[in-house]
Amino acid sequence: MDPIRIAVVGMGKIARDQHLPAIAGNPAFSLAATVSPRDSGVEGISHHRSLDDLLAQGPAVDAVALCTPPQVRYDLAAQALAKGVHVFLEKPPGATLAEVHTLANQADRVGATLFASWHSRFAAGVAPARAWLAERRIDSVKVIWREDVRVWHPGQAWIWQPGGLGVFDPGINALSIITHILPRPFFLSEATLEIPENRAAPIAADLHFRDTAGAAIHMDLDWRQTGPQSWDIVVETDAGTLRLAQGGAVLTLPSETLHNEDHEYPGLYARFATLIRSGRSDVDLAPLTLVADAFLRGKRLVTDAFFD
Ligand code: NAP
Repeated sequence: MDPIRIAVVGMGKIARDQHLPAIAGNPAFSLAATVSPRDSGVEGISHHRSLDDLLAQGPAVDAVALCTPPQVRYDLAAQALAKGVHVFLEKPPGATLAEVHTLANQADRVGATLFASWHSRFAAGVAPARAWLAERRIDSVKVIWREDVRVWHPGQAWIWQPGGLGVFDPGINALSIITHILPRPFFLSEATLEIPENRAAPIAADLHFRDTAGAAIHMDLDWRQTGPQSWDIVVETDAGTLRLAQGGAVLTLPSETLHNEDHEYPGLYARFATLIRSGRSDVDLAPLTLVADAFLRGKRLVTDAFFD
């Protein structure tokens, strides 16, 4: 079978750190082109300043991976799908829910694959956590996602702009995990968003959810953490405590701790290839829906200005 000719669009941090190595490591794909307005691409690979330019005069592509900020992703995805090109969306899949629904309908109409990826769901501890929790009674859940924005997102202006999500940019990774591992649906009951006076997006958020059986889920997101960073989920159950640490990589159950190799992006590309080969899409909007609900229902507090 011929490899899927893919273009990477948006040659920023995640494209270089994760997408290029995952594509190079998966024989189902061949890197056909890169697209980025300012970046100069990869030696030996056709590079284009815009997707227009690639689609008009570049090498033929079967798929694109959109690694841009979310605010520009809809137009790029719609343009690719209009040509029957399969689309991999980095997380979050868009800047609004309706635009992603529109893309999913478009993909169905044209018979192309749309994959709204959630890389944290492919962290090593997540699948075994989901299997273990499936048989338990959930009593409570705590999510602590505290990191230093200056370390992880230096100079990323888009992340503070409307649609950039602020602290929900990492927080949505935690939501992508808990919407996947918890056996019952849950929804927001109360939230407080702290927004720096000079920015449009929150730097911290405190969120309370409850599931359909009444179990409390508390989420603490903060971008002002210096020193040790926390990407932890703790689930209290009738059979003891489950802990997922390091963003889902390390799973501790009452009887054992599992450390497995990182395979988030290789896992995403394996899934994308399977979806394309089987003519299907995968668009789960649950994590983005919960973020939208936090903006819809949360109380906003203005806090100190933030400077990079
Ligand atoms: P980034 O470093 O700011 O890179 C984004 C890139 O998009 C920029 O390099 C920019 O290219 C390019 N771009 C902007 N508009 C474009 C357009 N219209 N057409 C083509 N390219 C365009 O951001 P990032 O950290 O890689 O994040 C990108 C996405 O990946 C976000 O949704 C983020 O949530 C997600 N993500 C990031 C991480 C991470 O650790 N950073 C992890 C997982 C997922 P030029 O430089 O050429 O202008």
